[in-house]
Amino acid sequence: MLKKLVLFDIDGTLLNMGPINRSVLADALRAVYGTEGSTRTHNFAGKMDSAIIFEVLQNGGLDEKEIAGSFDRARQTYIEMFRSQAGAADVTLIDGVRELLDQLRERSEVMLGLLTGNFEGSGRHKLKLPDIDRYFPFGAFADDGKSRNDLPKVAVEKAYRLTGKRFSNHDVIIIGDTEHDIACARTVNAKSIAVATGTYSMEELEKHDPHVLYENLSRTDAVISEILQTTIN
Ligand SMILES: [Mg+2]
Repeated sequence: MLKKLVLFDIDGTLLNMGPINRSVLADALRAVYGTEGSTRTHNFAGKMDSAIIFEVLQNGGLDEKEIAGSFDRARQTYIEMFRSQAGAADVTLIDGVRELLDQLRERSEVMLGLLTGNFEGSGRHKLKLPDIDRYFPFGAFADDGKSRNDLPKVAVEKAYRLTGKRFSNHDVIIIGDTEHDIACARTVNAKSIAVATGTYSMEELEKHDPHVLYENLSRTDAVISEILQTTIN
């Protein structure tokens, strides 16, 4: 019987992409808006792709209305360019991830999903490159809300539509590599598992008080036991 809904972030948690992420977004924004704004230097970690586009272009002097006017075209251009340019050599699967996913998939009490700031089109492509897309029957993406904190309820709803099981928030586990993933879990009283495999160190993540903090996900048995335990908030 299904008991736990485990939601994974993508970048810095399951895999790391090389510089292609940034360079494709810069190319796409230049093609649509004539400027890449602050794409080359902006901090992307834990943010929604949609928010990143607004922030970098506002830093480049565009106003919100101009950005919104071509936003759908920018998203589509970025996704198409990303799919055609990003290949397997651009992605590194993080230590322990495949083993963890293999073991979780075998457990009938666990459902896997995604909770990510990626657009679905580019996020799914990232996961296909190291062949881990198939572990995730559904996800909540940047296309599904304005802020990351909107996404847990979207994920719970999508899981319900797929399985008929309505997970309560204390049976939801959110795994991510930034303070934004931890904050997102906190907004719904879900359990947060933070991993220092992205740009945040253990010390930085600790300040944001996740329920559990790991260097990486390679201690498979420990991670699974945390997933199966219910957190008393
Ligand atoms: Mg991340």
